[in-house]
Amino acid sequence: MTRRTRLAPSPTGALHLGNARTFLVNWALARQRGWRILLRIEDLDGPRVKPQARSGVARTLEWLGLDWDEGPLVQSDDLAPYRGAMERLAREGKAFPCALTRAQIARAASAPQEGAHELRYAAQLRPASWERRFEDGCANWRFCVPPGEVPFHDGVQGLRSFDPSRIVGDFILWTKRGVPSYQLAVVVDDHRQGITDVVRGEDLLDSASRQLLLYRALGLSPEPSYWHLPLIIGPDGKRLAKRHGGRTIDAYREAGAAPEEVVGLAASWCGVGGGGKLSAREFLAAFDLARLPREPIVFTPGS
Ligand code: GLU
Repeated sequence: MTRRTRLAPSPTGALHLGNARTFLVNWALARQRGWRILLRIEDLDGPRVKPQARSGVARTLEWLGLDWDEGPLVQSDDLAPYRGAMERLAREGKAFPCALTRAQIARAASAPQEGAHELRYAAQLRPASWERRFEDGCANWRFCVPPGEVPFHDGVQGLRSFDPSRIVGDFILWTKRGVPSYQLAVVVDDHRQGITDVVRGEDLLDSASRQLLLYRALGLSPEPSYWHLPLIIGPDGKRLAKRHGGRTIDAYREAGAAPEEVVGLAASWCGVGGGGKLSAREFLAAFDLARLPREPIVFTPGS
């Protein structure tokens, strides 16, 4: 069986250096091991997506020197596969419509969750009964998360395990805006696109347990292997992002930098090279997963 991976950028603005590192490693692992690579544009994630960023993101990856075998596939082009999965979960009583507001969910939570991106939705908040028929666009639909640990083997981190019922509870599958959530869309796509290996940043590590629960609820197999890479963080300890100072990949390009400078910097975070210039091809030849640092890497923009 040919193994397959995907580069899955969200066009929520320009890609930054942390994304460059993740895509380079994903690409190099695939090319070294003979996996096929699919480019998937994940543009469903709410109002943050900028339409002009859809094509820009592929151009940015090409500028870095990356290539792929299939795609780009764009999630928003066809919602039918996600709707089919949603209808099935609703029909089987594994998902329910949620009428509660964010404030109501926050009030019901036992621990204070101010500012949390995703509130924990305790199973006790589920409605006493509901119609097992999916209706689009009227409410958020949530997954009935079964309690318990969901362990998995991670190619970078070894054995990991999370209990989604304790971390996020009944997470959202479909929003009242009429689009699937990231968690549902990624599982439907990874399955139908034959993805065997998911390589991404460690910020999504605990999502792997959520996604495995969805594979099982939908009766999908085989489940993919996961490879979660240590985060690149800013001096404030948070994941490297635009707020750390305009260092997007496009900002480097517009300032006249060569792709080899960006690749060289990202490579130095992967135990490859000394931070000097490097092409994507040279990175591919030198990359060794065993030398990838396992701890988060602090990057101070401008240093
Ligand atoms: N689109 C996600 C991101 O850019 C990646 C999702 C995934 O790899 O599962 O962070």
